[in-house]
Formats: sequence, structure tokens, C-alpha cells
Amino acid sequence: MKISIEMTKSPKVKPHSDQLVFGRTFSDHMFICDYSPEKGWHDARIIPYQPLQIDPSIMTIHYGQSIFEGLKAYRTKDGQVNLYRPMENVKRLITSCKRLCIPPIDEELGIEAIKKLVEIDKDWVPAEEGTSLYIRPFIFATDPYLGVKPSDTYSFVIITGPVGAYYKEGVNPVKIYVESNYVRAVKGGLGEAKASANYAASLKAQEEAKEKGYTQVLWLDGVEKKYIEEVGTMNVFFIIGDEVITPELNGSILPGITRKSCVELIKSWGYKMSERKITIQEVYDAHEKGLLKEVFGTGTAAVISPVGELNWNGHIIKINDGKTGAISQKIYDTLTGIQYGVLPDEFGWIERI
Ligand SMILES: *Cc1c(COP(=O)(O)O)cnc(C)c1O
Repeated sequence: MKISIEMTKSPKVKPHSDQLVFGRTFSDHMFICDYSPEKGWHDARIIPYQPLQIDPSIMTIHYGQSIFEGLKAYRTKDGQVNLYRPMENVKRLITSCKRLCIPPIDEELGIEAIKKLVEIDKDWVPAEEGTSLYIRPFIFATDPYLGVKPSDTYSFVIITGPVGAYYKEGVNPVKIYVESNYVRAVKGGLGEAKASANYAASLKAQEEAKEKGYTQVLWLDGVEKKYIEEVGTMNVFFIIGDEVITPELNGSILPGITRKSCVELIKSWGYKMSERKITIQEVYDAHEKGLLKEVFGTGTAAVISPVGELNWNGHIIKINDGKTGAISQKIYDTLTGIQYGVLPDEFGWIERI
């Protein structure tokens, strides 16, 4: 599909790299494409960043038929711009489409749209260490209609914005509250889709954990509250003895691209890497025996987020003395090294703009 381009006549002033706040600043252009049953996905265009006009009865507001993605463009030392595994995001967006009865976009349209938009706003990819251009593709229902059914029409939009370094003073372990009251998702629900509704479901637990002094929650399975699922908006890994463990994809866990990358990296380093069920009790037992070495979350925003403390029903354990573990640090250094073009891209994960 041809993407038409309308350049802005009034480019915005770019903020200084040290003033970047995640998700508050947006670049000059956006991508938009519409769907109707007659025309399919059509009218792909890049236009100046601007508000969307919506009808108050738009279905996405009332019934939440809305999905999104998140990825980043990285500025290398030699001034080039790297995308990290963007096709994985496009594929996951299509999977999410199917789960929410949204007519899937073509892979080629998805990847073309991301690449073209980043190319046009290339100057918005900041250069200071740890900064990047965050890319947010999303699709939502646009029928003005209050009946409950899949919408007939949709919009696929991509916006981007520069973001600061996640870790300004080195990788820092966080305190995590093990959630045994609220649940994020259950098997058969929306957990494995990147659906906006999953976030709505998670806010209350997140707020209560914050009030207790914790950064994020560790989600347990929605039925028995026994098996570990994810940590906040990240996937989670445990190192017990010489085994690296991450919960297997079971239908309620979001299949993270950072998770997938970690699994591949850890295997390539020759560690025992298991994708299997793991209970919170197993983690506490391992800690008791002195075998719990590292715990970390994985996601596009932070790459790796080490866990320094867990609180499960008032039982508090410290992990690796509250410090970043050696393997957590090695994965962080390797993935960011590949993303910023400092390390060779041995896995073929980078696409240059
Ligand atoms: C996006 C997301 C992740 C992380 O996925 P990445 O592709 O690694 O960024 C993990 N869990 C949830 C619930 C998410 O929405």
C-alpha cells in the first residue's frame, strides 16, 4: 500500500535530552490508516501530529476494543538509527487483532508504516546515552454505535516521542509486591493480547502496591494464585541454582519480545534455560535454601529491571542483597549494546532506518 505524506509546516521545538519525560512529548508526524468493510485497510498516510476527531459514541470508549504495541528506535554512535526486532511487534499486533476481532493489518503495511514514520522524524531520535524514540502503534474501534459487537470500522495509528534514559544512575533493583488479591488476566481472557483492557484491570493493584512502598506487583495466576505470571508490565525471570526460569506462555501471559530475546541469549550462553510453570512457593523455598540468586523483569521500556525485594503476604525476602545480579547486568549490557550498535548484531535483530 502506498503511504501518502504531508509534512508539517510548523515543526515543534525539540526538548533537551535531560528534560525528556516518558510519554509526554511527541514528534512532528503521525501515521494513520483506516479500515472499512468495503475498502479494507486503506488511505495510509503520514500527517502532522494532531488530535483525532471522535464521536462520543465511538465503540472503543464504551467496550474497549483497543490494542497497542511499544518499541523503540535507537541512535548509534555513528548517527544511524536502529530498530530492534520491529517485525516481532507487527506480528504481535496482528495476533492481538485476531483476539479482539479486529481485521488484521498486513505485515508489510505494519513494518512499512513504522519505518517510514521513523525515517521522516529521524531527527527526533535523541543521541544522548540511554535515550531513544519510543514508537506506539495502536488500533481501535471507530464505529459510532452503542451495541455490543465487533466494530465495522477501525483506525490504525502510530505516534512516536523521544524518551530519556530509563536508568540515569545505573541499573537499579526494585521492590515488588506479590499480589494475592487482584488478578491481571486469566486463561481464556485477554492476557496474551496487548490489549488496553489489561492495563485497566491492573491499575488498582498497582496503586495499592505503590501506597505500600512497592514499585510494581508480581502477578500470580488468576485461579489458584499460586503460579507466577508476570511482574507489572514486564515478563519475569528467576535464577535458582544453575537454572534460569521464566513462566511458560500459557495464554494469560503477554509474550514479550524482550522475554524472547533473553531466552535466546541465555540459551546461547550455555545456561540451563527453562520455560516452565513456577510457583511463588518454589521461589520462597529456593530463597530459604540459599539457591535464589537473581530475579528480574524484562520489557522494552527498562530492558531489564532487577528485583531486590519481594513481599508475599508480609513475608519479605531480599534477593542478591538488593543488588543487581551478574547475569541481569550481562543481559542488560548485551541487549542495550546490540540496540545501540555497540555490540555486533549476531542474531540479526537490528533493522537500520
Ligand atoms: C508489553 C508488555 C510486556 C513486555 O513486552 P516487550 O515486548 O518485551 O516490551 C510484558 N507484559 C505486559 C503485560 C506487556 O503489556
